[in-house]
Amino acid sequence: MSEQGHSRPVTRITIVGGGTAGWMAAAAISKVLRGLPGLTIRLVESEAIGTVGVGEATIPQIVGFNQLLGIDEAEFVRETHATYKLGIEFVDWTRLGHRYVHPFGTYGIDMLGIEFHHFWLRGLALGETAGLDDYSIGAVAARAGRYFPPQPGQPNSPLARLAYAFQFDAGRYGAYLRRLAEAQGVVRIEGRVVQVHQHPETGFVTAVQMENGDMVDGELFIDCSGFRSLLLGEALGVPFIDWSKWLPCDRAVAMPCSSAGPDQPITRSTARPAGWQWRIPLQHRIGNGHVYASAFLDDDAALDLLLANLDGRPLADPNRIRFTGGHRARLWDRNVVALGLAGGFLEPLESTAIHLVQAGIARLMAYFPSLDFTPKEIDRFNVETAREYLDIRDFLVLHYKATTRDDSEFWNYCRTLEPPDGLREKLEMFRSSGRVIREHNELFTETSWLSVMAGQGIVAGGWHPAAEILDEGELKRRLGHVRQVIAQAVGQMPTQEQFLREQGSA
Ligand code: FAD
Repeated sequence: MSEQGHSRPVTRITIVGGGTAGWMAAAAISKVLRGLPGLTIRLVESEAIGTVGVGEATIPQIVGFNQLLGIDEAEFVRETHATYKLGIEFVDWTRLGHRYVHPFGTYGIDMLGIEFHHFWLRGLALGETAGLDDYSIGAVAARAGRYFPPQPGQPNSPLARLAYAFQFDAGRYGAYLRRLAEAQGVVRIEGRVVQVHQHPETGFVTAVQMENGDMVDGELFIDCSGFRSLLLGEALGVPFIDWSKWLPCDRAVAMPCSSAGPDQPITRSTARPAGWQWRIPLQHRIGNGHVYASAFLDDDAALDLLLANLDGRPLADPNRIRFTGGHRARLWDRNVVALGLAGGFLEPLESTAIHLVQAGIARLMAYFPSLDFTPKEIDRFNVETAREYLDIRDFLVLHYKATTRDDSEFWNYCRTLEPPDGLREKLEMFRSSGRVIREHNELFTETSWLSVMAGQGIVAGGWHPAAEILDEGELKRRLGHVRQVIAQAVGQMPTQEQFLREQGSA
């Protein structure tokens, strides 16, 4: 114990796994804790085992992660062959032939201190026909294939309310982070971990043993070993909380294809008879995958459906992945913290997995341990992490529950499932009064909940009474003005290809 009554901070960190999670952790922790006397970060990975090889679409929080790492955006986009992402387009989710965008950023602009969508809802009742997408600069720009960075310094421009993320090559992203981490002193150890050694009384992990017999010890172990969860799951036996009742998709088959030319800055998710297909356009290729429920579709049929719906020539053999939606009951147990797939997995419908790694790293930094590993902090870490997974789960379930599709057994199952309590409450509130609940600082904002609820055809039973303050003519004039300002701003944006070239990223 030191004079302050705390033991010294942990300084010897071992990361097991070098996928996206492992290298994100290595790059961020070596940056944040640089200068901590005695800091040693080692990362163990096995090239023979490899990485999951998918995970290419992100959400806007990644921009903050890049800033933390001091990354130059133009260089980052060039090195990872990235494109910009302004949201996700959902096709055939509400019903066949229907499409809507879940954009980043906000809709319109608040009026009279009230959220914009209440005025839009009243406008609909008065015969307005424009959909929510027309009031989002992200959605309009994405459909027009245009991109320009947000302009927070111009509060009167809709560009002030644009938000963006990236779509990138997962392999290149890992390699890029590895270069950063190694330049910051992280030591990489190649090889397969064959055994995990634990203290006989406490169960704390003391070392991992490599195939060649070498021991890699540490004070804190970060389990980034992927679905196998080598330390947290296998060695410490922390159970998995299974959410497949609400999220029945349990398999994916991924396959990149050649690009068809200039593309929109958006990820697309197209509903299929027993799941959905992602389309992630990068600079040099398109990432594709079919996520499906094995109880409703066999593997061969899933691959056939994917192959029948590619926009270009296949560029690799199919990558088949099995998973279960859910997470480990505690992502921090004793001296092991799991990040990425080792901690849990929620299907990539809203591109949240890389964010969950980022959030886990931020939380680990907030509660960074001293050698006595105080249970209070560990408990807090676990409570916050479980809450975050739960919130995202409910948002994903919304996409399946709010559908009118009855053309397959899978959609009948999804449409009629009992929603979790939190989601039920949100649905009831929106149905009765058009209000969107966001009780705490959950990841998805009112805009996100609104876009999917309204996009998937849930009818709001009312709107905020203050939306009645404007008379009909004034309300319609203002709605028209918002659409016009957005259309004009988008008209002045360059295409994404022009922007990438001008920025030196293409
Ligand atoms: P992995 O990539 O599996 O890495 C595990 C590492 O551990 C590897 O380096 C491996 O070699 C090492 N390892 C394992 N066992 C051993 C051992 N015994 N010895 C030594 N090393 C070992 N996320 C998004 O944010 N957006 C998306 O669009 C998205 N799409 C996805 C689609 C699918 C179908 C799936 C399954 C996931 C998707 N994800 C997405 C999630 C994303 O891919 C992962 O969150 C991310 O890649 C992190 O993976 P990881 O590093 O935890 O695991």
